[in-house]
Amino acid sequence: MADYVFSPPPVVGVPVQGSEALFPVRRIYCVGRNYLDHVREMGGDERDPPFFFQKPTDAIVVSGTSVPYPPFTRDFQYEIELVLAIGTGGANIQAEDAAAHVYGLAVGIDLTRRDVQITARKAGKPWEIGKAFDHSAPITPITPLRGALPTSGAITLAVNGETKQSGDLAEMVWNCAEIVAQLSAQYRLESGDLIYTGTPAGVGPLVPGDRVTGSIAGVGDILVDIVAG
Ligand code: MN
Repeated sequence: MADYVFSPPPVVGVPVQGSEALFPVRRIYCVGRNYLDHVREMGGDERDPPFFFQKPTDAIVVSGTSVPYPPFTRDFQYEIELVLAIGTGGANIQAEDAAAHVYGLAVGIDLTRRDVQITARKAGKPWEIGKAFDHSAPITPITPLRGALPTSGAITLAVNGETKQSGDLAEMVWNCAEIVAQLSAQYRLESGDLIYTGTPAGVGPLVPGDRVTGSIAGVGDILVDIVAG
C-alpha cells in the first residue's frame, strides 16, 4: 500500500435507498441550458445545443445538511435538477444503451453564484467561478434505476414553502439517454460519475435562513437549509 505525505482526502459517498453501502463519487458533470424555458429566462440562444461543465467532487452535500452562504457572490441561486448516477462506465455509449450504464437517479440542486457566472460568461471566461465552489452540489440519496430512464415526471422546487420552479422532465431539450450518449462522446464515463441534467425555469436568489425543498416524481425529495457563511 502506498504511503502519502499527508492523509488523502476521504472518498465522497452518497447514500443509496435500500442499501447500507454508499455510492462513491468520481466526477460531477452538469448540463447547461437543457430546458427551453430556462434558456429563455437566461437570454440564451435556443438553437445552441446544451453543453457540459463540472463541479468538484467534494462539492457534494447530502440532503438534510445545511449549506453555508458562499463567499464572493451577492446573487446565490438554486437550480433543481435530475441527477443520473453512472454505475457502468463507457465511451461513445449509444442512447439506446444508456439505461444499462445508469446505476440510479437522485434529486440535485446546482447551486450557482449567478452574478460572477454571468460576469465570466460576458467576458468569455470559464464558468467555474460561478458553478464549481464548496457545497455547490446538494443531492438526495440515490434511488436505484429499475427499468427505463425517465422521460417525464414533475420537477419542482420551493423556497420557504413557496413554489419557484415547476417543470416536467419531458421538457428537457436532451433527454437522459441523449445526455449519456453526448457526454460519453466527450469524456469516457466511469462508475461513480454523477450527471446533473439541467434545470427548468424559475431560478432565483437565496439568502441565509432560507429552507429549500425540491421534488422529482418517482425519484425523491431534497431539503437544504441556507445558513450564514
Ligand atoms: Mn444547472
